[in-house]
Amino acid sequence: MIISVSGTPGAGKTTVSKLLSERLGYEYVSVKELALSRGIGERVSDEIEIDVDELARVVREEFSGRNVVLDGHLSHFVPADVVIILRAHPRLIAERLKARGYSKKKLAENVEAELVDVILVEALEENERVLEVDTTGKSPEEVVEEILTLLKSGTKKRVGIVDWSEEYDKVVQYLMLGDD
Ligand code: ADP
Ligand code: MG
Repeated sequence: MIISVSGTPGAGKTTVSKLLSERLGYEYVSVKELALSRGIGERVSDEIEIDVDELARVVREEFSGRNVVLDGHLSHFVPADVVIILRAHPRLIAERLKARGYSKKKLAENVEAELVDVILVEALEENERVLEVDTTGKSPEEVVEEILTLLKSGTKKRVGIVDWSEEYDKVVQYLMLGDD
């Protein structure tokens, strides 16, 4: 079983994926490391550009029939049995990415992406089984428990559980409106 864990950068994917893989006894795989080691990720300045079709091919070839948790904001583009989309209040995304030293532009892009559900919408276009989990105010352990419960219950789809539109005023300061 391939479980992809996706979401906006800063949502908690790496933290949750590692914990989830331990709890399930699955392999933990970072999309970024996988892509770099298989030569399908290219370093472009401080970022890594990954060909998602190549990524999907590598995952199909190497992980079919294996139990893995795949961590990365592109992991919803691979053929997974289930895609977990982690959500976090856009303000949390902003604070975490600021602490990570992201540029103003990168920070704005990601806060906006979280606000308007970019990754969720992409995941729904790519995959049948999508489970959305709001991490806001929850510990990583609580998030993992929630995921395990959803998996055990056989829930096919759970989406539309957050609406950040009411939170816009709290994060508008991080957005770059009208410039680029
Ligand atoms: P991602 O892999 O999605 O970019 P990380 O797992 O690296 O996110 O988490 C970003 C930051 O948020 C880290 O400092 C991590 O400790 C913290 N964090 C992640 N999940 C939670 C959570 N559920 N509660 C509190 N802090 C969290
Ligand atoms: Mg990460």
